[in-house]
Amino acid sequence: MEREKKDFDYLIVGQGLAGTLLGYFLIKSGKRILYMDNSHHSAASKIAAGIMNPITGRKFVKTWRVGDLFPFARELYAEMEKETGVRFFYDMNIIRELFNFREDNEWLLRTDFPGYDEYYEGKPDLGNYKGKVKRGFSTIELKQSGRMNIPLLVGTFSEKWKKEKRILTEKFIHKNIFFDKRNIRYGEYKFKKIIFCEGYQAKNNPFFQDLNYEESKGERLIVRIPNMDFRKIFKHKLYIVPLGNDEYWIGATNDWYHEDDLPTEEKYKILKNGLENILNVPFEILHHGAAIRPTNRDRKPLLGLHPEHHQLAIFNGLGSKGASLGPYWANQMADFLINEKPLEKEVNIRRIYDKKK
Ligand SMILES: Cc1cc2nc3c(=O)[nH]c(=O)nc-3n(C[C@H](O)[C@H](O)[C@H](O)COP(=O)(O)OP(=O)(O)OC[C@H]3O[C@@H](n4cnc5c(N)ncnc54)[C@H](O)[C@@H]3O)c2cc1C
Repeated sequence: MEREKKDFDYLIVGQGLAGTLLGYFLIKSGKRILYMDNSHHSAASKIAAGIMNPITGRKFVKTWRVGDLFPFARELYAEMEKETGVRFFYDMNIIRELFNFREDNEWLLRTDFPGYDEYYEGKPDLGNYKGKVKRGFSTIELKQSGRMNIPLLVGTFSEKWKKEKRILTEKFIHKNIFFDKRNIRYGEYKFKKIIFCEGYQAKNNPFFQDLNYEESKGERLIVRIPNMDFRKIFKHKLYIVPLGNDEYWIGATNDWYHEDDLPTEEKYKILKNGLENILNVPFEILHHGAAIRPTNRDRKPLLGLHPEHHQLAIFNGLGSKGASLGPYWANQMADFLINEKPLEKEVNIRRIYDKKK
């Protein structure tokens, strides 16, 4: 009996957003899962805004695979809300300020492209932001966007799974893996596979060293702006994201080179001054945080098996868009693990190994 309790189908290393979503699908399919998570302070899932934005960047490009990813994510978040009784997802339009004629023109050209009209409102409406924010050259309003409360989702499932004794709060030590003929052992535990969902800490994983990781450090503020009741996301030089109770997420910075993973005085000032330059109303800073986004060179998720040790797998690379990318690709990863359904080439880590041959 005791022996059976230490036998699992899968060990998932890391219970951030990636590990949570993947584990959700595996548990739903009846798989026996154990998690190991060291609750690292610079895990991206702890401070992300969770914005889901269908049209991004200076060129107003539609988010990659938006037509597949967004409906799938919405449906999954609704299902997870129903299961837990906790609300994670908020439908919110994004008001985006454009800053010059060139941007405005670029946007106008884009709106002629097929399939764009379902993602923007004909007449932008600032709502409660009117008179409270500095304006740019022109304004657009995006729809089918929203905010997914990533820290709450991860925290809710962490609590639930801790009660179900599925999570060990400890650091996984890679050199303690022992390969059996068919299984894999770690201390007193036995698994069919270990799946690494370590976020940016994958860089320390000796089994998956060659995956072109890049780290993007982000810092953000949580502020109180009393009695404004802003309901939409506002994208100026920074994002203002309503969290409820007069609190707002402000961010974020993006640093490809950084000395450590801690909040810095320099970025605090940039965010504070940046917000002062946007708002015409007072605010109070409640919290300043930093974390590292798990990014890689081609900006596509990283799914697949180790080329030699097929008992080891990875699900990572959600970058700066975990809320949109996570559900669809976690489902695909689960289907691959359970039913051996092939992974799409664009996300399979074999794309990287093949190039290096
Ligand atoms: C400032 C900021 C703003 C962001 N805003 C958005 C946004 O608006 N929209 C959006 O979609 N995304 C956003 N993101 C990105 C989003 O946070 C990530 O895509 C997502 O959270 C990544 O999740 P993950 O599980 O891969 O990694 P992580 O969140 O880093 O989780 C990895 C987990 O693995 C654990 N772990 C690692 N190694 C070990 C080990 N050896 N042993 C045990 N445990 C281990 C860690 O403790 C951690 O809990 C933002 C990120 C940042 C930093």
